[in-house]
This record gives sequence, structure tokens and C-alpha cells, in this order.
Amino acid sequence: MSTVRHVLVVGGGTMGLAAAWALARAGVEVTVLEQFSHVHERGSHSGLTRIIRQAYHEGEHYVPIVQRADRLWTELGARAGRALLERTGLLEFGPDDDPDFLRSIAACERHEVAHTRHDAVELQQRWPFLVPEGWSANFTPSGGYLRVDACLDALRDEARAAGATFHYGAAVREIDVRAATVTLDDARRLHADAVVVTAGAWLPSLLPELVPGRLARLRRVLTWWSPEAIHVPALARLPVWAAFDPAGFFYGFPHSDEGIAGLKIACHTTREPSVDDDPIDPDDVDRDLHDRDLAGLVDFVDARFPSACGPVSAHRVCLYTTTPSWDFVIDRHPDDARVVIAGGFSGHGFKFAPAIGELVAELCLDPGRSAPERFSVARHRG
Ligand SMILES: Cc1cc2nc3c(=O)[nH]c(=O)nc-3n(C[C@H](O)[C@H](O)[C@H](O)COP(=O)(O)OP(=O)(O)OC[C@H]3O[C@@H](n4cnc5c(N)ncnc54)[C@H](O)[C@@H]3O)c2cc1C
Repeated sequence: MSTVRHVLVVGGGTMGLAAAWALARAGVEVTVLEQFSHVHERGSHSGLTRIIRQAYHEGEHYVPIVQRADRLWTELGARAGRALLERTGLLEFGPDDDPDFLRSIAACERHEVAHTRHDAVELQQRWPFLVPEGWSANFTPSGGYLRVDACLDALRDEARAAGATFHYGAAVREIDVRAATVTLDDARRLHADAVVVTAGAWLPSLLPELVPGRLARLRRVLTWWSPEAIHVPALARLPVWAAFDPAGFFYGFPHSDEGIAGLKIACHTTREPSVDDDPIDPDDVDRDLHDRDLAGLVDFVDARFPSACGPVSAHRVCLYTTTPSWDFVIDRHPDDARVVIAGGFSGHGFKFAPAIGELVAELCLDPGRSAPERFSVARHRG
């Protein structure tokens, strides 16, 4: 039986809302402290849409978590009366021997995720991508995309209905881990039975001793392209897609208007170190679009995706907080179990949010529950 009655959540973005949702549903009093507003462009959830996929090259242990999250998003959407998830299917393609591509296929096989394989000829007949011989595709019908604003609204609305309170413009200056208290910018000191820290790109500033030097903040650019009108109907029927290209991991969405009209395309990582890997300060981010941001995307589109060619009509800058392994950090604080951290979502966390909310709630409320080893502070420190 838990003795935790009141929890403070530091950071009301993706994971803070998910944690507040799960805790409030468990009957706990929840107070969320968010430095900006509900849904904003300064952290890691800007850009309107997020891919959800069960083909998981980052590690097959993520598949059951995304399957749980998929069910939760679907249920949340049904209760909210809004489609949070657009199930377009996911098309992944790359060289047959690409290790990440092979891991993604292996994850599908291991977890019986429905998928079909297509050789280079079939791929090019069915989808508007150009690939050389020796490449192939893996299509998973379960893939799709989530509508960020609708998802975060649904989590907040259900949390609020269950009694959670939200404070915006409430910046936490300091967390005293051993006292489980937080101090706000206006010097007010708050305490509760437990503190959840879901501060996204600000986590390393708030708790620098947690995993010293192991959380990098990176700038990423999302772009919306305006292809020729003749191509738009076919591009609107695209699944979400990802390419394990020798130059990097590129991904995109069908042509749509989910707040910005166009064809959304981005680069997750480049194979060779680039300026994208330079650490940034989340309070001082360059939000302009530069030629260097587009160079790799233009090369990719020219070589592999000619029907997408056209001007880039919009962009958003968004922040990754990454661990060296790209695995998340979800654990109790080693110095005081009343403080639970969920961070380091490494550019792929959004899809999991409600399932991570549940895990965070369990870590707060159930002393017998431990963090999965892969996400533990000890492993990340190691
Ligand atoms: C370009 C890009 C593309 C992505 N694509 C995908 C994708 O396709 N699929 C997918 O699953 N994931 C994707 N992700 C990852 C996903 O969006 C993130 O993992 C997720 O949003 C991280 O959630 P978070 O709660 O850690 O951060 P955020 O959502 O940024 O929330 C952190 C919150 O904490 C607040 N905060 C910080 N410090 C304080 C403080 N001191 N006091 C009060 N409040 C504070 C911040 O203001 C912020 O609101 C992408 C990320 C980016 C940047």
C-alpha cells in the first residue's frame, strides 16, 4: 500500500503530462509545474506530428512498450472523441545488409509484428522512392503518426478531470533531492511525498549530478516541402517512412495539413559526425533555417525521392536530449527514491508517452517496482 498522496511533476511537456495522467488516474494528488505554456515550441514536442512504429531497430525490448502505448493512445482518443493516431502504415527501406534495418526486421519477427518484405523492384513500383539494387523495404501496417497537440490535450484533460492541477509560467530553479522539495524562480519552496522530474532538455541543468556528461542536448530541424501539385495526391497516400540511407537516417510523413500544409521530412542522424551533433543550450537555440540544415535533406530528396522536390515552405527547430546508447533514463534518483526521473528520450520518446507515464507512476507508488535495467541511472552512469 503506497504512502504517496501528493506528487509534484517538474515539467509539463510530453512525459510530465503522461506521468500526471497516470498518477491522477491512480488517485494521487498531482501538481504540475511547467515553465512555459501547455504545448509550446521551445522543447522537444514541437512540430505537430510524431511517428509511431513497432519496427524498432533501437532495441526489440521497446516493442512491448510501444504496443502498450498504442493501445493507450487509441483508448485516450476514443474517450476524447478525437483521432490521436493516424494509422498510415510504416515503410522502412535501406541496403539489405544495413545493421539497423536488419534489427528492425528482427524486432518484427521476434514480436510477431505484421510486416511484408519488398525487393527493390516492388518498392519502386509501389512507392515513389528510387533505390539501387541490393536495397529492400519492410512495411508494417501498424505504423502511423500521432497528432502532438491532440495527444497532449487528451492527457492533460484526463489528468485534470482526475484532479491534477497545472501551473504554467512556473519555472523550477532547484530540486533538493534529499529533501524531495523544489524551489521555484520566485523563491517559493514546495514539497510533496514524491517529485517526478520530466524536464526534457533542461534535465541536465536541473540535476547535473544525475548522469554527468551523459545527456547531450542537440538541435534538430523539421522541414515541410511543397512539391509540384501533380505529385500531391500520391504523396498524400504515402505511409510514414524511414530510410536507412548510407548518409543517415531520414524519415517523413504523407503530404497533409496537420497545422502546416506540406510534406514533412527530417533527418534523425547522419552517419558521419556533423554540426547536428554539437551540444546546444536549450535557453539559447538558433531557430533559423540555414543552408547547412537543408544540405543533407536536399541530397536525399534529389537521389531517392524526386517527386518531393520543391521549395521548403516551413520549418521548426526541436531539441533532442540523448544518451550515448539512445536509451531512455527512467528511474528513481539514487540519492532519494522519492525523486523519479524520466528523461533522455533521445529523439524517439513521444510514441511511448502514456506507457512511460504508467511506469513513472509505478515507480512513485510501488516500492516493489524497479526500473528496467536498460533505463536505469546505474547503467547510464556506467
Ligand atoms: C525533431 C524531433 C522529432 C521527433 N520525432 C519523433 C517521432 O517521430 N516519434 C517519437 O516517438 N518521438 C519523436 N521525437 C521525440 C519526442 O518528441 C521526445 O522524446 C519527447 O517529446 C520528449 O518529451 P519530454 O517530456 O522529455 O520533453 P518536453 O516535451 O520538451 O517536455 C519537457 C518540459 O519540461 C519543461 N521544463 C523544463 N525545465 C523546467 C523547469 N525548470 N521548470 C518547469 N518546467 C520545466 C519544459 O518547458 C517542457 O515543457 C522527436 C523529437 C524531436 C525534437
